[in-house]
Amino acid sequence: MSGTFGFALTRTDGAARLGRMQTAHGATETPAFMPVGTQGAVKGVTPAELLACGAQIVLSNTYHLALRPGHELIRDLGGLHRFMGWDGPILTDSGGFQVFSLEGLRRIDEDGVTFRSHLDGSTHTLTPESSMAIQTALGSDVAMVLDECPPLPAARETVEAAVGRINIKREEFRRDPRPLDPACACETCRTASRAYLRHLYVSNEILASRYNTIHNLAYYLGLMAKMRDAIAAGAFASFREAFLATR
Ligand SMILES: [Zn+2]
Repeated sequence: MSGTFGFALTRTDGAARLGRMQTAHGATETPAFMPVGTQGAVKGVTPAELLACGAQIVLSNTYHLALRPGHELIRDLGGLHRFMGWDGPILTDSGGFQVFSLEGLRRIDEDGVTFRSHLDGSTHTLTPESSMAIQTALGSDVAMVLDECPPLPAARETVEAAVGRINIKREEFRRDPRPLDPACACETCRTASRAYLRHLYVSNEILASRYNTIHNLAYYLGLMAKMRDAIAAGAFASFREAFLATR
């Protein structure tokens, strides 16, 4: 959290906002999609591949890294950027979401939350101060304050109906020569057919995870770039309408 930090609002279009967040490790244009690197890694892809997909920032996880390998270890090895080989901005969450998800393993009081590790059952306490200290040790560019996470007010069916999918393991894709998304220019869609992706998935090939992750990253990062272009052009309302019509 050292160095230059700032946020500039570039333009508004109705309620939509186009902005630029400056950190000591570079800038992120907003609205942004942050690939999730829970344990200091975005599953299956390297930092170079993240950059190639268009990622400008990654999100990592205070709770998981504090328990394993430990934030002091990461600090002693030069911080999370050096540890994972990502030189761009990193946002770390507070750990609150994971801790509050530990049903039966945590106790909340005024000072913070006491919880048992999902790894070895050891007892830990997370307070607003210790959450900040952990994120400072990691070298986070954007730290989150300890937050309590109430459950979503939406029914599961509502959330599922709103979702970023093709279930590649389905039989209907067994002989499908088309790319996952014909309109997508990512490495996966340029290289692999749905039939091949299905074969990789049902065969438990590691490449299935990599190809699927690369496409999913490209999709969300591309969606955010289109949103930013629409806001910049003052056309967000029509973009939103057209997007929702395809859901
Ligand atoms: Zn794709």
